[in-house]
Amino acid sequence: MTHPPYSLLERIDSLWIDPEVADHPLTASVMKRFPPGKIRMGIPSVSPQSSVPETLRSLKRRLLVTRYRGRLVKPCPGSQGRICCGYQVINAMIHCPMDCHYCILQTHLSVPALTLYVNEDQIREEITERLESNPEHIYRFGTGELGDSLVHDALTGFSRRMVPFFAESRNGILELKTKTAAIDTLRGLDPKEHTVISWSVNPPALIRAVEPLTATLDRRLRAARECQEMGYWIGLHFDPIIWFEEWEEAYRGVIEELARILDPTRILWISIAGLRYTRAQKDLIRMRFSDTPLFTGEFFRDEDGKFRYLQPLRISMYKTLLRWLREWSPDLFIYYCMENRRAWEATFPDPPRNTRDLDERFNENIWRHLRHGK
Ligand code: SF4
Repeated sequence: MTHPPYSLLERIDSLWIDPEVADHPLTASVMKRFPPGKIRMGIPSVSPQSSVPETLRSLKRRLLVTRYRGRLVKPCPGSQGRICCGYQVINAMIHCPMDCHYCILQTHLSVPALTLYVNEDQIREEITERLESNPEHIYRFGTGELGDSLVHDALTGFSRRMVPFFAESRNGILELKTKTAAIDTLRGLDPKEHTVISWSVNPPALIRAVEPLTATLDRRLRAARECQEMGYWIGLHFDPIIWFEEWEEAYRGVIEELARILDPTRILWISIAGLRYTRAQKDLIRMRFSDTPLFTGEFFRDEDGKFRYLQPLRISMYKTLLRWLREWSPDLFIYYCMENRRAWEATFPDPPRNTRDLDERFNENIWRHLRHGK
């Protein structure tokens, strides 16, 4: 597998345009970036004879511009029996040209291509509706659940319209989550403290082994520093944390790099989450990446059906990371993504009682940081 720098456009074999959106301005601006020979009208089909790895290989090589039929802004479904954070997911796109071994999107085969949705007006209406439902509550929205928030941004210009939209809101925060270093579209905007650019971080050896086509850790952190200097908040996601023999030394190295490159006072939140996967996901990962180092370590089937590291191992890894992060900067706002109450209680002196409580803590933390205050 090759690693960056790579150009998304060069990797796309064909651009498909749903005839229903052929006249949409976003369609026109995407089409301009492709040679006419690569453009097709219609919806690509998937051969029923194709294996799942073949389907994914071709899916990642074609791009579809279409309209989404249904609600585009929805609460994150979270996971059964977990403390979640009350996040709002924006479905502006689905799927990703990068190829992380653990990516849950491998099991989402409901679309035949990397898919971009043109209904941005609807996204804005649904966000406004949510914000107006409770003006004293901070709502956090992100596009990074069903794809990478910045990987298509040079094509769509999504952030150039959404950063100013959120900048004018009173109680909305936009999070753009990425594993790229593609921040050119963010230049020259004034986010007015309402946009967080987030990076998932992992040790360089793991990035090389299980996150093909993503940017190196160094490129991610340099892009993050630049975003801090441009006035953006930064978010960091230790997600997924992956156990291997030398994990302590490797993750210690990541935190040293963070401390060397980033300003901790411009980090709005940090999440931590151990590797988890479903049985179907594991079978697929084994089929696609036979030599993956993901499954070193002991896992058990948790009550939500996902496999996770044994609780004592997770807690020990979390405690170690929390200690190093607190040594770097004691005021960082750190939370777990989809963890159970026992893990929180074993590692935080004052753990949130439930999802609502964690959401309230985000609320207080963000109001404190916003210039205009409450
Ligand atoms: S960058 Fe994110 S969305 Fe893309 S393959 Fe990796 S985990 Fe999946």
